[in-house]
Amino acid sequence: MEVAGSFEAARKSYRGVIGCVPTMGFLHEGHLSLIEAAHRDSDTVVVTLFVNPLQFSSAEDLDSYPRDLARDSELAQESGADVLFAPPLDEVFPTEPHTTVTVRPLADPLEGVHRPGHFAGVATVVTKLLAGLRPDRAYFGRKDAQQLAVVKRLVSDLSFPTEVIGCSTIRESDGLALSSRNIHLGTEDRQRALGLSQGLRAAQTAILTGERDAATLCQIARSEAEERGLALQYAELVDAEEVKRIKTLDRTGFLAVAALVGESRLIDNLCVSFGPDGQIEPDFGRVLDHRSVLYERR
Ligand code: AMP
Repeated sequence: MEVAGSFEAARKSYRGVIGCVPTMGFLHEGHLSLIEAAHRDSDTVVVTLFVNPLQFSSAEDLDSYPRDLARDSELAQESGADVLFAPPLDEVFPTEPHTTVTVRPLADPLEGVHRPGHFAGVATVVTKLLAGLRPDRAYFGRKDAQQLAVVKRLVSDLSFPTEVIGCSTIRESDGLALSSRNIHLGTEDRQRALGLSQGLRAAQTAILTGERDAATLCQIARSEAEERGLALQYAELVDAEEVKRIKTLDRTGFLAVAALVGESRLIDNLCVSFGPDGQIEPDFGRVLDHRSVLYERR
């Protein structure tokens, strides 16, 4: 595996079909599943490690974001990465950008309400990465379903020749969605955090037994979380492409939840699509049967 610090050096290692996995590092099985998917479909897999300052609202959150290049190199290589693109800040932002990318109105609800400017930061850096790395495919997690919608839309609006592929959420063995932020959770907060995934599991059960009313499904997620002492910041059922609230679960969408747990803001969602015969298919994601590399490889 090559480690590249510049766009040009990364592109020099290319052959055949290029699959790209953008990350902010401190890799876990969620990221590794994207790298594995890219490895299955591509000749060259380029994994990016870049903690994007534009998408953080506080300097404190940015500074406390975990970073470990040696660890991430090993994990990326084991999962099939060919190139690790780990640029210094001035390779991506040589100057303060005058050109930024906003994707609205998709970016306004849900996370947009709680993290103003966050998606403009994401969209701007993703645009830079796609322009600089020019991959054929780019892999993103459905764990960040609103982000996935934003990225799909910017790729289409700006005519990037990159196919965006969404991959299922990977969860710790008790159901908590993997996030690099989980390592900051103390024992009690870790228990309360389970309210997010338990709420979604309960909503999934209701969906599979025929419930389609959005208000009822959101209430199920909220009550389940509250039973664990967790007050959700939001629970909303939205259309997957437009991120618009829907009243009835009659199209591809996701039930999104978020909560502040201790110092960490955690998000999760249940994606729901429809099969060829119209059968409903909730995707809770894959639950690990072992302890995550988040804790085992530090
Ligand atoms: P991040 O490093 O948090 O910016 O995430 C990089 C990519 O990994 C994004 O496309 C995320 O959606 C994806 N990702 C993060 N956590 C998970 C997870 N638990 N399961 C699947 N994909 C994930």
